[in-house]
Amino acid sequence: MRYNAYSEYLRQRYGEKVYKLPISLPVTCPNRDGSCGQDGCVFCGAIGAGYENLPASMTVTMQINANREHIAPKYKAKKFIPYFQNFSNTYLPIEELKGYIYEACQPDVVGIAIATRPDCIHDEYLHMLAKIQKERGVDISIELGLQTVNYHSLLKINRGHTLAEFIDAVIRIKKSGLEICAHLILNLPWDDINDVIENAKIVSALGIDQIKLHALYIVRGTIMAEWYQQGKVKIISQEEYVERVVTFLEYLCPDITVQRLIGRAPEKNTLFTNWQTGWWKIRDAIEKAMEARDTYQGSCCDYLNGKEVKKYIGQKLDFIKKC
Ligand code: SF4
Repeated sequence: MRYNAYSEYLRQRYGEKVYKLPISLPVTCPNRDGSCGQDGCVFCGAIGAGYENLPASMTVTMQINANREHIAPKYKAKKFIPYFQNFSNTYLPIEELKGYIYEACQPDVVGIAIATRPDCIHDEYLHMLAKIQKERGVDISIELGLQTVNYHSLLKINRGHTLAEFIDAVIRIKKSGLEICAHLILNLPWDDINDVIENAKIVSALGIDQIKLHALYIVRGTIMAEWYQQGKVKIISQEEYVERVVTFLEYLCPDITVQRLIGRAPEKNTLFTNWQTGWWKIRDAIEKAMEARDTYQGSCCDYLNGKEVKKYIGQKLDFIKKC
């Protein structure tokens, strides 16, 4: 493939196909409960990101069992990654989160993914998770929402944190030995192609392990939906999104695994989702565009480790060879 696809990464790491099982916990988000904000991010709906999730009133075991029963026969799956998806899961009290993580460590579980915000990353929690990772032999990864590196866009979407908190969280997670997946939206109305490139460069420079890309959904009942209906925000075309993703991948370090090129959300909850077409069609269009351009992930990733000095060293070596 022309990019590092997650499915291939999982197959190589665990020797077979592995499936994520979405889990909801009874948790909220500091950008909603008043700690850092009350209105949440302008695009975030009342139920968060887990449109297809089971209710948080079910235990973790019940949710794993129900999802496994559905997925295992359909895909002949034997290994799983419970994904604590909704809201900011490390915003729970530490002992409560610890209990849920232990509950998820079942015999066919090879990893656990935990979604959260950069300002909900704390060393104490990371030590606890690193200890479970070692003790139970499961790979624990933190999925961090960033959405954009553009400081001004972060203010506009009311994230309640800036790039600094993201960088701090990444440094701390990396020290703890857990993996990191960053979430980015490549078509925020205020971002242009330079922001897309900078997104790729920042996550590459920070040594993020995985990324998930999303196109912006306009979820009913959100502030973004109001702006959209009032004509205050415009969505770029599908073709431009494809172009942005291809450029992003060109600048992305080739070591980073790509979990998603496009997200998915049910149309009934939204005013706009993926240009009202199937997410897989957009994924296919991105792959076709890469083929047409004969390009690949990392083809423009020449900016790390002293680009200019590398050129100079090259010239010096050429000179020595000639002598
Ligand atoms: S941080 Fe996540 S859960 Fe919280 S408001 Fe923003 S998108 Fe929603």
